[in-house]
Amino acid sequence: MPVLQIEPSETDGTETPEYEEVSIPVLVVGAGAAGARTAIELAENGVDCLVVGKRDHGDAHTTWAAGGINAALGSLDPEDDWTVHAADTHREGHSVNDPDAVELVARNAPARVRELDEWGTGFDRTEDGKIDQRYFGAQSFRRTCFVGDRTGEAILSALVDRARELEIPYRENVMVTRLLSDDGRVYGAAGYDMSDGSFVLFRAARVVVAAGGYSALYNRHTSEADENTGDGPALAYDAGANLLDAEFVQFHPTGTVARDAWDDDWEGQLVTEAVRGEGGRLYNAAVDEPDADGAPDDPRARLGDRFMERYSPTQMELDARDVVARAIAREIREGRGTERGGVYLDVSHRDRAFIEARLPRMYERFAALGVDIAEEPMEVAPTAHYSMGGVDVDPRTGRTAVDGLYAVGESASGLHGANRLGGNSLVETVVFGQLVGDHLAATLDGASPELPEGMRAFAEGEFRALLALERADGDVRPAELFGALGDLLWRHAGILRDADGLDAGLGALDALRDRAAALRVEGDRTDRDFEFAVDLSFTFAVAEAILRAASFRTESRGAHHRTDFPDEDDDWRVTVVVSPGEDGPELRTRPVGEPGEAVRAALDEGYELEYAHLE
Ligand SMILES: Cc1cc2nc3c(=O)[nH]c(=O)nc-3n(C[C@H](O)[C@H](O)[C@H](O)COP(=O)(O)OP(=O)(O)OC[C@H]3O[C@@H](n4cnc5c(N)ncnc54)[C@H](O)[C@@H]3O)c2cc1C
Repeated sequence: MPVLQIEPSETDGTETPEYEEVSIPVLVVGAGAAGARTAIELAENGVDCLVVGKRDHGDAHTTWAAGGINAALGSLDPEDDWTVHAADTHREGHSVNDPDAVELVARNAPARVRELDEWGTGFDRTEDGKIDQRYFGAQSFRRTCFVGDRTGEAILSALVDRARELEIPYRENVMVTRLLSDDGRVYGAAGYDMSDGSFVLFRAARVVVAAGGYSALYNRHTSEADENTGDGPALAYDAGANLLDAEFVQFHPTGTVARDAWDDDWEGQLVTEAVRGEGGRLYNAAVDEPDADGAPDDPRARLGDRFMERYSPTQMELDARDVVARAIAREIREGRGTERGGVYLDVSHRDRAFIEARLPRMYERFAALGVDIAEEPMEVAPTAHYSMGGVDVDPRTGRTAVDGLYAVGESASGLHGANRLGGNSLVETVVFGQLVGDHLAATLDGASPELPEGMRAFAEGEFRALLALERADGDVRPAELFGALGDLLWRHAGILRDADGLDAGLGALDALRDRAAALRVEGDRTDRDFEFAVDLSFTFAVAEAILRAASFRTESRGAHHRTDFPDEDDDWRVTVVVSPGEDGPELRTRPVGEPGEAVRAALDEGYELEYAHLE
């Protein structure tokens, strides 16, 4: 996956630029919760590592996580334990989760959450001083620990403080553009410093990819505009690793629907599940909805039916995300939505003080947009939120198919199966971060970073390709292609998919790749335009994996809904592996294991949330 169409060999006429060389036993690419927790474990075990991130220290995408982190602490519901957490995860993942990954997360979550608490996360407390817990969708018990609705920010801040205490070196604003790999082994990475444009070659005995997911490839999504662009999975895939579960993209039921007067940046942004976890109710639009631009006397007059009664009478708004997202999409498609193409989410039956305390970020955000959520409903619609798919890893160690290459956090896959249980991704970052760090510390064995000559030439070729990209003077702007790719995925690989649409999507992707040959990059390497241009090669690789895997899986399961194969099919209780082949992606299925006995028993028990707790 060279930088777009520009193969290093084609740019031999371009001089090799100067570059800095850094040698480090372990290079961690990504400074979110997953990268930070991996680095902390390494440092605590006396292993030198370097963390690089595309943004400022402490500004990884993790800070956007809102509602909470799962751990079966049983603070409010003593019946909860790790087996029920595991069972909920399997049920939500439609039984294609990796049972080992699920068990590791459910068993280790309480220790990791208590550790985060000790490191200063400051979880909200019950009156008797326990870590408080709330419901999240599809959870049998109140299991989600939280810091208001700023949980990710609080967790990352505690991890960054801990990393600083341990004096873990961090290079901010450095973008890795390619891993240096040959013959099934990784030797480091090439990249550039986004603040001054200088090139950097990292020699490393081990590389850990912790660079986030790929949901921002969709044009309506909950991520920061320039995060979750698929860098992690694409870098690993290019180096020879396999991708797993690429077709499973989670569409969150509730993203902001922007009003005309609102900044477009709010479109699709997350309205946290915590709103429903705290009792928020979904309504379609009243048949005689007042004019959307005119403020009605009673805002609740806009509310129509509480439609989840028809789709999920027992679980209501807290059914699985895919169920709620499809229900909302259907209400909108069948003409029962609002004028702006959404439905209503209303929490105004709760006291203002309760809303301010439990949903402070939502309260403030909507207040800034002129909506008082203690008095009136929010307008919401589904939005791309999370990538269940990612790099295929051994969950116990984070190992990939490439020697020396590891993946962790949202870049990796396996835990969530066909749909992620809300609150499980934050816990995944810290559980697997600790395990990967521990494994590396135990196995590194003084290995010193080596760089075969061929790899140096490869890195220099990458730097020349980056120079050539910077000088690209065609007529197509990177942002234009980004937007077109987002539309393509939303239309062809969105909430509802079918064979014709997916085929058309693959054709349209080829056309986009052709257009990328005529790219125009404005400014220099310190400009966002250049970053977007580099990102395009990542996005194209991941988009192709999504489209191909979605086309390959001829059934509906979890977040992957095929209108031409609307039912779940037992024969498809397998995962889809995408491998880099000589002539492009190669797809195959792989059986999934069975949960252990204790988890099986919890599944058989058939726990369900007590909806009455919310009323
Ligand atoms: C709006 C929102 C709300 C969420 N709320 C919750 C929640 O309540 N509970 C929950 O469990 N989960 C939640 N999630 C999911 C959760 O936030 C993420 O899955 C998790 O934070 C991922 O952490 P990470 O460390 O794997 O990646 P990230 O936090 O995304 O970090 C990735 C890091 O990699 C760096 N990076 C990326 N590409 C490169 C590159 N090419 N070179 C160098 N560095 C690179 C980035 O700069 C960043 O430092 C939410 C997600 C969103 C979008």
